[in-house]
Amino acid sequence: MRGEPGEGFGIENLPYGIFSTVGTTPRVGVRFGDRVLDLYTVLREEVFAEPSLNAFMAQGRTRWDEVRRAIVTELENGDRSEGAFHPVDSVRMHLPFEVADFVDFYASEHHATNLGRIFRPDAPPLMPNWKHLPVGYHGRSSTVVVSGTDIVRPCGQRKQPDESAPSFGPTRRLDIEAELGFVVGAATELGQRVAPDEFADHVFGAVILNDWSARDVQAWEYVPLGPFLGKSFATSISPWVVPLAALDTARTATPVQDPDPLPYLRGSQDWGLRVDMAISWNGQEVSRPNYAHMYWSPAQMLAHLTANGALLSVGDLFGSGTVSGPNRDTWGAFVELSDGGTRTLGIGGQSRTFLEDADEVTISASAPGPNGSRISFGEVRGRIAPPRL
Ligand code: MN
Repeated sequence: MRGEPGEGFGIENLPYGIFSTVGTTPRVGVRFGDRVLDLYTVLREEVFAEPSLNAFMAQGRTRWDEVRRAIVTELENGDRSEGAFHPVDSVRMHLPFEVADFVDFYASEHHATNLGRIFRPDAPPLMPNWKHLPVGYHGRSSTVVVSGTDIVRPCGQRKQPDESAPSFGPTRRLDIEAELGFVVGAATELGQRVAPDEFADHVFGAVILNDWSARDVQAWEYVPLGPFLGKSFATSISPWVVPLAALDTARTATPVQDPDPLPYLRGSQDWGLRVDMAISWNGQEVSRPNYAHMYWSPAQMLAHLTANGALLSVGDLFGSGTVSGPNRDTWGAFVELSDGGTRTLGIGGQSRTFLEDADEVTISASAPGPNGSRISFGEVRGRIAPPRL
């Protein structure tokens, strides 16, 4: 085996992405250590010459497993693939798949409770439905962008509680949501439901997702139909899609679910995930959420998403919702860390509640892999650009 695998990018991981080098078109690559394997060069199949993972993902679970084994074989017979590697620093990464539909859930009890207290201080923090179904909303697929894309501060209608009327202008409460995103590979037909135990037949892999949120716009607009323009201006994802197979060791039970979920949300497989996340604000680490605290598993989210027979398309993306744990140093959004904007954080010698122009946020993640290895998701990064007035 060749190469010195970069931390978390050993042979146990092998995430897929879309890369290009100077003067070449985007195509499928696999990250191994600090290098990118040009998959078309070694496997010679047209789906790997495509500028997105969609054609490969559409081939389904059996083929995903075959290709993963073929890549391991190539890496173990290093001579043949030597010319097919590029240093990771020399490539440009692109959006890894064409996003079909984008749905975002709200699956952390800690986050939902924190936000309920901030948005509705005089009411119970969790809505009556919260422990019966994974609450979600339909997002905007066309504004999902790859890590490194600047985020233009959005404008919108804002109204503070002490203001008598709304005004239009740049958001004053620009926030992040640290999440995982799950990528659907295998489609379904209209009317077909996906049971929780069929999760691995349909989900190709996972990415880190930052659901940028304009809290003032959101707070004013969300009643009664849910998030809209406070979310749809941009959602960032990491460029490497970690295959579901690489997350086997990270699987764990969800926290106890009480009351018992309805039968269509029950499965025999554990799809909680021990994924450690870290959020950096202008280079300073501010929180370390862990996905294992999430109340609803992604398998339950998928079962709920298809419970009415809504079809799955290749490239569907669903976000987990903000990953927040029980303690302040594990909260995944700045609206929580700043107690709704009432508590300032010291960031690089400056004080912050929400994001300022030119601020940069990086979310990284990794999970335990087999034999003591780590499975890295890499990172998702974004910098705030000034509003277009
Ligand atoms: Mn979200």
